[in-house]
Amino acid sequence: MRRPLLLSTRQQAFDAAKFAELAELRVAGHFADATMHTPIEVTYRAMELLRSSSADGVISFGGGSTVGLGKALVHRLGVTHLAIPTTYAGSEMTPILGQTDASGKTTITARELIPSFVIYDVELTLGLPRQASVTSGLNALAHAIEAMYSPGANPVLNLIADEAVRSMAKPIGAFAEGRLNDLTDRSDAQYASWLCAICLAQGGVALHHKLCHVLGGTFNLPHAETHAIVLPYALAFNAGSIPKVMDRLEKAIGTEPIAWLRALLLDHGLPSSLAELGMPKDGIAEAARLALAKPYPNPRALDEIALVETLSAAWLGEAPR
Ligand code: NAD
Repeated sequence: MRRPLLLSTRQQAFDAAKFAELAELRVAGHFADATMHTPIEVTYRAMELLRSSSADGVISFGGGSTVGLGKALVHRLGVTHLAIPTTYAGSEMTPILGQTDASGKTTITARELIPSFVIYDVELTLGLPRQASVTSGLNALAHAIEAMYSPGANPVLNLIADEAVRSMAKPIGAFAEGRLNDLTDRSDAQYASWLCAICLAQGGVALHHKLCHVLGGTFNLPHAETHAIVLPYALAFNAGSIPKVMDRLEKAIGTEPIAWLRALLLDHGLPSSLAELGMPKDGIAEAARLALAKPYPNPRALDEIALVETLSAAWLGEAPR
C-alpha cells in the first residue's frame, strides 16, 4: 500500500491520526466514522472516500467496529487490509463479517476477509476504559468457550481454548478492579484475545453467539456488553449437556465459571442485565423467535419456552437457572 485510507471511530480519530503521524504513513485520507455492527450505509460512505481519494488499501485502527469496516471494504473492493486492533474482540483473526441493514444483521464468511496484515501492539490497548476492557475480554472468552462444544471442536483447538481461558481469567479480574495499566496483564489479555479469535475462526459458535447476534442486530445493543451479560446465561442453559467443558472451564479459571462470570459484572458495578443496556422487555419473545428461526448446532436442544425463560432472566439480571 502506498496511499492507504485510515479507518477509525470518531472516538479514536485523534489516536489513529497520531499513530499515522508517528509511523510516518502517507495516508490518502481518514474515514473516522466506523460504527458498531457495520451498518452498510457507513460502508458506502467509506467506499466513496476510498474511491475519491484514490486510496490503494485500508488500515483499520481500533476495535471490532473499525476492523469490521475494513473487512466490509475488502469484501466490496478487494483492497489490501492492515488491521491494528485495540480491543479484545478478535475480528482481525476471523474470516467473518457481520453487517447490518434495515432488515437486521447478517454475516458473510470468506477467507479473503481475514486482514492481510495485523499489528498487535499492547501499548495501544492501555487506553481501553475499565468497562470496555472487561466486556471486550468477556466477548473474547465467549469465542473460546463456545469453541469447546462447537461441532468444529478438535484436540488442537481444545488446547488453544484452554490456554485462551487461562490467559484471560487473571487480567480480566484485574481490569474489573480498575487495574488497567499493567503491561503484563494487558499483554496476557491481548495474547488470549488472539487465541480466542482463532477459536472463533476455526471452531464455531452456538446459542450464546446466536443470541448476541440477534440482540445486537435487532435492538442495536452494544456488542461487548451484550456478550458479557449473556455469557453466564447461555453457559447455564447448556451446562447440563457439557459436563466435561464445565470441568475444563473451572480448571482454567480456578473457580466455578458461571458464578465467576456473573460476579465480574455484578461485584464491580458493571451493567449486568439486558434491561440496563436498553433492550425493550417486549423484545424478549421476538429475540427468542429470531434465535430459533434458522437451525444451528447447540449442545442442548433449543425450544422457545426455555429461550424466553433464559432471556427473561438475562433481561432482569436474575441468577441464571
Ligand atoms: P468497538 O470497536 O465498537 O469499540 C468500542 C469503543 O471503544 C469505540 O468507541 C472505540 O473507538 C473505543 N476503543 C476501542 N479501542 C480503544 C482503546 N484502546 N482505547 C480507547 N478507546 C477504544 O467495540 P468492539 O467490541 O471491539 O467491536 C464490536 C464490533 O466488532 C461489533 O460490530 C461486532 O459485530 C464486531 N465483531 C466482529 C467479529 C468477527 O469476527 N467478525 C468478532 C468480534 C466482534
